[in-house]
Amino acid sequence: MRQVPFFRVDCGGNELRYVEEVLRSGWLTTARFAARLEEEFARKVGAKHAIAVNSCTSALHLAAEAVGVGPGDRVLVPSLTFTATAEVVRYLGGEVVLCDVDSRTGLLTPEIVDRSIAAHPGLKAVMLVHFAGLAADLEAIAGICRARGIAVIEDAAHAFPTRYPGGRVSVGAGSSSFCCFSFYANKTMTTGEGGMLVTADDALAARARLMRLHGIDRDVWARFTDPRRGWMYDVVAPGFKYNMPDLNAAVGLAQLERADEFHLARVRLVGRYLERLASCPFLVMPSSPDDAREHAWHLFAVRLGEDAPIDRDGFIRALGEAGVGTSVHYRPLHRMKYWAERCGAEAESFPNAERWWNRTVSLPLFPGMSDEDHDHVCDTVLGLLSARPTATAGRS
Ligand SMILES: *Cc1c(COP(=O)(O)O)cnc(C)c1O
Repeated sequence: MRQVPFFRVDCGGNELRYVEEVLRSGWLTTARFAARLEEEFARKVGAKHAIAVNSCTSALHLAAEAVGVGPGDRVLVPSLTFTATAEVVRYLGGEVVLCDVDSRTGLLTPEIVDRSIAAHPGLKAVMLVHFAGLAADLEAIAGICRARGIAVIEDAAHAFPTRYPGGRVSVGAGSSSFCCFSFYANKTMTTGEGGMLVTADDALAARARLMRLHGIDRDVWARFTDPRRGWMYDVVAPGFKYNMPDLNAAVGLAQLERADEFHLARVRLVGRYLERLASCPFLVMPSSPDDAREHAWHLFAVRLGEDAPIDRDGFIRALGEAGVGTSVHYRPLHRMKYWAERCGAEAESFPNAERWWNRTVSLPLFPGMSDEDHDHVCDTVLGLLSARPTATAGRS
């Protein structure tokens, strides 16, 4: 039987060649390749500063530290996200305020942010997640926050390459304090493990660079290459160990070379999904910008309609039996033991995140997916949903 995984990484470009170059150079950790990845990534998204780190979680932590999140500070986080978005607030002793998301897009909206600010005066920062790779309305949300001295940190783990509404600017070139990308193995580009922190603010960038490597006042590559007193340095803060090794950066450079190709492949596969599945009466398609190319399409999450002849768990099980890998994004944070206890969050306060959790399934989507694999997914989905809905007792 045909097996279609949820995701398969493609390292068929220059990855091996660049990794070999690093291995032969004798310098495996942060150096030329990491610096080149920073430069080229910054150029790609139009960012002023790009700071390579060992994960998006590290980037989020550095961002929250640099904007001054500290003990007792409250930070707004959408419940529909991965736990990393929230946990970094706790690293710094801050408190997470969970909020619901828009039912159609899964995003924070200016209205939700406005309402949350009114309900929780004194918020220190907002974590803005570009869910699935669709851009949130940064311009409006940053405007609301700027007026009140609230920092906006973008979790762009799904959003490379994404453009903001209107398509003019890439996610990462906008007016937030920081924007954090993930190069985890199953993201739209990878370094195995890794991330990138970008900002337009010189002072914030300097702080994040300092804290990325132990709070040492000179980076290790600069010390190594400095002919004078390379051994001399000072420690000015209790920093972290978040630098990206060159071995990982080498993979990232090769991936970045193919970013447009990867993106176009995703856009094409999404177009194919919409063509095949949009007319199915039991499925709601993910919301797409008018120009589908603005969306990174990290995820293609379909929602099962209330009348669907099969529930979420049954749908996933049957797809699995037909060899189709799926995933669910996400079991919301308010349903997680730690966050429920810490934030005292009740499911009734998150009706939209609840609906995402109960009714959406992410289908396979990766650049190397063949048309035959894609057809198999579509045929299986349509087959499972072709049965007429069974009349529920008591329904007229
Ligand atoms: C993957 C992911 C992260 C964490 O990224 P890492 O690079 O694994 O640390 C954070 N937020 C979201 C929304 C993610 O999907």
